[in-house]
Amino acid sequence: MYRIGQGFDIHRLVEGRPLILGGVKINHTKGLLGHSDADVLIHAIIDSLLGALCLGDIGQHFPDTDSRYKNANSLELLKNVLAMVEKSGYKIVNIDSTIQAQEPKLMPHINSIRENLSQNMLIGLKQISVKAKTYEKQDSIGKGEAIAVYCNTLLMKA
Ligand code: MG
Repeated sequence: MYRIGQGFDIHRLVEGRPLILGGVKINHTKGLLGHSDADVLIHAIIDSLLGALCLGDIGQHFPDTDSRYKNANSLELLKNVLAMVEKSGYKIVNIDSTIQAQEPKLMPHINSIRENLSQNMLIGLKQISVKAKTYEKQDSIGKGEAIAVYCNTLLMKA
């Protein structure tokens, strides 16, 4: 039996914060604003996993009003959710994500992001796709004020 999940997230890009995508720190003049480390890619992956399991969303499991999650490492949150996947009797078939960012250029970082996620999630490189697009200089993303991610995940009964 298969289950499909979809995830979306967006964070503001501001000065004075590190930029972390998929657990990889990326050199840039700005970073993502948030209660946790604001790793927008991992947050979208988490929501796609929770969605596939019909288990709500990231805000219900890791509320931003809870001081335990202040500056939380999103990889740790992801590992908690992977334990829920295993406990539910499912395994990941594949994940496909799209990062929408006008800047910085993400193409040079895509492979290290995929490798880091594959190692931390204990899945193969061919199971985690990360794509990047600009926003054609339109709206807040296109003006470099935010980064958004869409993600789809397919699970199958283990
Ligand atoms: Mg988020």
